[in-house]
Amino acid sequence: MNYKDIYYMKKNAFIILAGGSGKRFKSNTPKQYAKIKNLNSIELILNEILNNKNIRHIIIVYNFKNIQILKKTLSKYKDKRIKIVKGGKTRQESSFQGLKYLKKVKPKNVLIHDGCRPCIKNSEINKMITIIDKYDCCCPLIKNVDLIRFKKGNKFLEDKKEIYQTQTPQIFKYNIIYKAHKDNHNKTYRDDTELLNNKKYRIKFLKGRKENIKITYKDDIKFYHDIISKKIKYGIGYDIHAFNFNKRKKLKLCGVKINYYSVLSHSDGDVGYHALCDSIFGALGIGDIGQIFKNNDKRWKNKNSDYFIKYAKKKIDEKKGIINNIDMNIICEKPKISLYSNKMKNNIAKNLGINKNQINIKATTNEKIGFIGKGKGIAAESIICISFL
Ligand code: ZN
Repeated sequence: MNYKDIYYMKKNAFIILAGGSGKRFKSNTPKQYAKIKNLNSIELILNEILNNKNIRHIIIVYNFKNIQILKKTLSKYKDKRIKIVKGGKTRQESSFQGLKYLKKVKPKNVLIHDGCRPCIKNSEINKMITIIDKYDCCCPLIKNVDLIRFKKGNKFLEDKKEIYQTQTPQIFKYNIIYKAHKDNHNKTYRDDTELLNNKKYRIKFLKGRKENIKITYKDDIKFYHDIISKKIKYGIGYDIHAFNFNKRKKLKLCGVKINYYSVLSHSDGDVGYHALCDSIFGALGIGDIGQIFKNNDKRWKNKNSDYFIKYAKKKIDEKKGIINNIDMNIICEKPKISLYSNKMKNNIAKNLGINKNQINIKATTNEKIGFIGKGKGIAAESIICISFL
């Protein structure tokens, strides 16, 4: 990171408003913590902005009722930029709490974002960071294309043509929005841009994005599932190793130790994990396990394949992938795989942060045909389906 990067990072803070209780969402789990596939909205937002080097401080404003679920959500993030702040009774109060917390670090700009809008993009954030230099505030808008009508009893009143929906994140010069909140805390505003909505301030409206909707109703979760489902990639993996009949019996399959002959291999020879890794690398389009972990590299000698799976998981997260399902075949005459498949699923689920019911493990013999059929080795195949936001 060069000097210029550090300078820019210092300037920008990002507040996530995660205090809403979501009465319209009708669930005990608030909407910002409802799972979209395996991740909730806060995780999806963090997975994006943690990759943005322009953001130096991340403040999550929470509702004390949901502190446990927030802590659980954050437990996997080790990034020091993330701080949590207790919110107020309203959106406005929560926003102000976040801004007050930032006083000690004095960012130049601050982005304020609804915790229940998971579909944000760093490209848009960076564009706003560039634009804000010339303005006091930038706010994304979506022009309403449907005919909006007001109804009274059984009759429509006048039509409204120029109606816009505001979105977040909205970006502000920190000092300006902080002062506006401070001076207006006894009046009610529905979002932060509204506080600056007078001639004194330079507001820039940007074109918003339809996908950046706010999760409000249960149906909205389905909408996100549908968006995600459109961006799917598949990967296939295969691995085979010969048994080493001279060695002690310590076969490893998807991390499960099995009382059977181990295999000839540079690493620990876990065919299950190796095939799975390759299917992940395939879906991500980043080559194969042999290219990433070369078999002449001493670092991988007898390496526990847990390491390779954790590496693959990190790559999925970096590319904002969400695993849909995994299907595996283990091909051997012996041992009997069905005795171990449940434990294997547990290991995969734990390492990849998914549910066991997303994993299927099948076993087959080779009907006494060929190398595997004669009991000389073991092979595995894996197919994975990953969605991308
Ligand atoms: Zn292998």
